[in-house]
Amino acid sequence: MIELNTNYHTHSTYCDGKEPLPAFVTAAEKLHYTQLGFSSHAPVSFENDFGIKEEEIGTYCDEIEALQQQTPMLLLKSLECDFIPGYSKSFDTFRNEYHLDYIIGGVHLVLPEHRDGIWFIDGSKREIYDDGLARLFDHDIRRAVTRFWEQTFEMIETEHFEIIAHFDKIKMHNQHRFFEDDEPWYQMLADKALQLIKRHDLIVEVNTRGLYKKRCDAFYPSTTLLKKARKLDIPVIISSDAHKSEDLGQFCPEARDELLRCGYDHLAVFDPATRQFQY
Ligand SMILES: [Zn+2]
Ligand SMILES: [Zn+2]
Repeated sequence: MIELNTNYHTHSTYCDGKEPLPAFVTAAEKLHYTQLGFSSHAPVSFENDFGIKEEEIGTYCDEIEALQQQTPMLLLKSLECDFIPGYSKSFDTFRNEYHLDYIIGGVHLVLPEHRDGIWFIDGSKREIYDDGLARLFDHDIRRAVTRFWEQTFEMIETEHFEIIAHFDKIKMHNQHRFFEDDEPWYQMLADKALQLIKRHDLIVEVNTRGLYKKRCDAFYPSTTLLKKARKLDIPVIISSDAHKSEDLGQFCPEARDELLRCGYDHLAVFDPATRQFQY
């Protein structure tokens, strides 16, 4: 049974979300959620407008705890941590300092081999993706995409986290222009990531944001990869990756149908007794 009453990947005005925390709690109550997890973008070591400020993480956690007093829903504290080799702080630094319930790990910024500059693969502007591909990778999509996956491998092998964010986000701004994700070289890279996910006991989220933002014509991950994840018995959750309260629940029924088609019959759920995910 796949119930749509949890969401563990949620932003707010503490990072690049558009509404404060209580707006998401109210929206989640209307959807009859039993659990809601907040996951601001963790700070990174350079100037940016998407991450929570390091000095505000304490206040963020305090506010979640205060809101917990006002709702029967279980509220959870998390950060969506970026992995940038040599630049990002160890995820456990945040976990330990702020007593986080879990961590979502993701790659939004890809470091080229020469380490000069960084490729931002997320955000609303396709021009930024195209510009980085041209400038940092000399238009070589295969080299650029391979770097994305290698950075993902390194994150899985070196960091401690529970959930992998939008597994194949690298396809978002590609929009079928430079590669197709059924190409063997691409599938081999994604396969390796799935093997590592299995070995490290991570949860894959079915992230619906690309669909409701109309930036992508598929979930992250795509059907082929989700079917492979099912074969490996990798646990899954459904995430709205909400930045506004109205994003909560968007395309979640469709994500459930997709999971059922891929052979899944349940989601991973946070267990309040053990403070860990059960699957
Ligand atoms: Zn993300
Ligand atoms: Zn996110």
